[in-house]
Amino acid sequence: MAMNSTGRPTAPTGDGARAEDLKTFSGSRGLMQQEPLLHEVGAPEKCGVDLPCVPKHTSRLGGLEREEVIGLPGLSEPEALRHYVRLSQRNYAIDLGLYPLGSCTMKHNPRLNEKLARLPGFADVHPLQPQSTVQGALGLMAELSHWLMAITGMDAVALSPKAGAHGEWCGMMCVRAAIEERGELDTRRRVLVPQSAHGTNPATAAACGFEIDELPADATGRVDMDALRSKIGPDVAAIMLTNPNTCGLFERDIREISDLVHDAGGYFYCDGANLNAIMGKTRVRDLGVDAMHINLHKTFSTPHGGGGPGAGPVVLSDRLSTYAPVPYLVRDGEGWALVEEVAQAKAKPFGRMSAFHGQMGMFVRALAYMMSHGADGLRQVSEDAVLNANYLLARLSDEMSPAYDGLCMHEALFDDAFLKDTGVTTLDFAKAMIDEGYHPMTMYFPLVVHGAMLIEPTETESRESLNRFADSLISLAKLAKSGDTSRFTNAPTLAPLRRLDETRAARTPVLRWREG
Ligand SMILES: *Cc1c(COP(=O)(O)O)cnc(C)c1O
Repeated sequence: MAMNSTGRPTAPTGDGARAEDLKTFSGSRGLMQQEPLLHEVGAPEKCGVDLPCVPKHTSRLGGLEREEVIGLPGLSEPEALRHYVRLSQRNYAIDLGLYPLGSCTMKHNPRLNEKLARLPGFADVHPLQPQSTVQGALGLMAELSHWLMAITGMDAVALSPKAGAHGEWCGMMCVRAAIEERGELDTRRRVLVPQSAHGTNPATAAACGFEIDELPADATGRVDMDALRSKIGPDVAAIMLTNPNTCGLFERDIREISDLVHDAGGYFYCDGANLNAIMGKTRVRDLGVDAMHINLHKTFSTPHGGGGPGAGPVVLSDRLSTYAPVPYLVRDGEGWALVEEVAQAKAKPFGRMSAFHGQMGMFVRALAYMMSHGADGLRQVSEDAVLNANYLLARLSDEMSPAYDGLCMHEALFDDAFLKDTGVTTLDFAKAMIDEGYHPMTMYFPLVVHGAMLIEPTETESRESLNRFADSLISLAKLAKSGDTSRFTNAPTLAPLRRLDETRAARTPVLRWREG
């Protein structure tokens, strides 16, 4: 009988029946149900409810009634429900297993946060409600702002950005407003962005009308200081730097970097997506940062994509705080008020970024997470996240090839040198991980590392879980090196769908269902 490494049976018989070869009549594979599209399950002629026909009536829509059939399939409640439950079971989730996606901080989302986010006073507020009726919600936003400023040591925070990238745009628009006020918008054109940066950084700088100047990395995976010195000049508007950087390394020269940029009259934008490695340990203000976004949906445990857009609040230094966008909160006697209009503002907001005030559900989850951890708990989150990443780095270093020497921060970066001459690529390796029941790590990012594999375990994984993950990767690495590529080239074989043409899916997506 086939056994796994802990001696548990993995197949009912030992007669060589391979799960991947088994063809079933229904197309389902055991508990993994075959599931067609909704349009194939239902049909426009089909009706999911059993109600009497509408008696003859006169329309009051003033001639605006739809004239053609809309073509949506009719489905009964159980049909619709099963469809979505079946699809959900094909998905990997943090509640299902370790999710090592580097640069994303996929950590456990405590159920306590969910419970609080569902309190009617938070979940059911309407953004157009009179402010006097939502004082509790505004108070929560003020409390969250306090925590974000305390954690980073910064002077102000804008809560309305709805993603990390949106936060970058907010911060860089503040930089732009400051430069404009100095009358230098025509001359300060350049934004320095390291080669290893997340793609949103150069995209943001370009969207704000700046030119991007790429900074190379040195042999240790950090900013090349000589290159930086040669690029500094009076036309530098800002540097956009991630710390710890996307190679999972702390930028040791960060104070010198910020001094160089400031002395040249520029601003320091820090990409704060990796705050999980330094929160409670490093005060962002002490690094000389002028603006930084914080991904509440990474560091502060909100599920990614859960319940709507994300939340990317931006903390600002006193050099930029006056340009923060509306709306923002001010004290109003005993309570709180929102400054909604640029004209109302005492400061000089660059404008407004979105219709309303941000993501209430994410604010509640983030504050619940912060308050349940406390200051010491948040520090320990960083320590444990860094410890877990280094544990994996140490365990995997013999069989896989670390991209850089030394310790890492919250994520461990490997290149594909260990796969050299095996015929197995980073992509194949990642696909084989799916057969092992793991979501692959981040692949081919950062771009500065060949065949990159970026692994971020986060603080919420136990040692047992890390060991199981490491053992699985080590066994795959050994298999690849032994010359047995069969597990890789066709992987995944045990997933609901096999290897997909991802390029074609991205380039020519089929977004609309058509009959036939
Ligand atoms: C996730 C991430 C971003 C962008 O955040 P979104 O919320 O996805 O827009 C930016 N920079 C880095 C380093 C990230 O990991």
